[in-house]
Amino acid sequence: MVGLAGFNDDEIEDMLPWCAGRGFDLTLIETMPLGEVEEDRSDRYLPLDGVKRLLEGRFGLTPSFHRTGGPARYFDVDGLGMRLGFITPLTENFCAGCNRIRVAATGTVFGCLGRDQKVELREALREGGREAVNALLDRLLADKPKGHDFRIAAARPAVARHMSLTGG
Ligand code: SF4
Repeated sequence: MVGLAGFNDDEIEDMLPWCAGRGFDLTLIETMPLGEVEEDRSDRYLPLDGVKRLLEGRFGLTPSFHRTGGPARYFDVDGLGMRLGFITPLTENFCAGCNRIRVAATGTVFGCLGRDQKVELREALREGGREAVNALLDRLLADKPKGHDFRIAAARPAVARHMSLTGG
């Protein structure tokens, strides 16, 4: 659930018992300035550190060792028998531990969600085979950015590419 100020922030508290009642966990994520959008997205930015404090007071949260392949950090929600995850690219940056690259269906491989660094595998595979692909991937990984440059209040997005092109 992407937390959005003035849009669904008043629904988050109710979402926990709703999810718990159906056997779901819930993960909250901060909106990221990716891709051109019509609205001024800074109005919708909801820092999750404040949300976490609120939910801690309401339900009680205990840090959990649970991990998935994703960047969420989890808490057991005391009394509800569910986990609550937080993905916080802005308030608690996790780029230092990132080992992700993303492959698009066209063979483009992006080194970082928040940067334009990429290599094109399609032609390399056709012309140079596996060795050419390996060389490109080595180059991509050697140059992988240290992290994003998300600035929520900036007039322009960090990259023009929309999230839907690369996935989460
Ligand atoms: S913004 Fe880039 S470096 Fe940071 S977690 Fe996402 S992909 Fe990794």
